[in-house]
Amino acid sequence: MKKKACRNCRLITTTKLCPNCKTSSLSDDWVGELIIVYPDKSKIAKIANITKPGKYAILVRG
Ligand SMILES: [Zn+2]
Repeated sequence: MKKKACRNCRLITTTKLCPNCKTSSLSDDWVGELIIVYPDKSKIAKIANITKPGKYAILVRG
């Protein structure tokens, strides 16, 4: 199954709903993969506004 990225929080998922924000607003047009393990300690997570660990898209286009 194709991986999709949430338009809201950019989490990458293969499910129909985003596990983070429970939205079905998912896009298959996204680029980059960002793995956040410790959101509290990660500068990238702060810049990207990510608060939960997981795999995120750098940019969601669609
Ligand atoms: Zn989401």
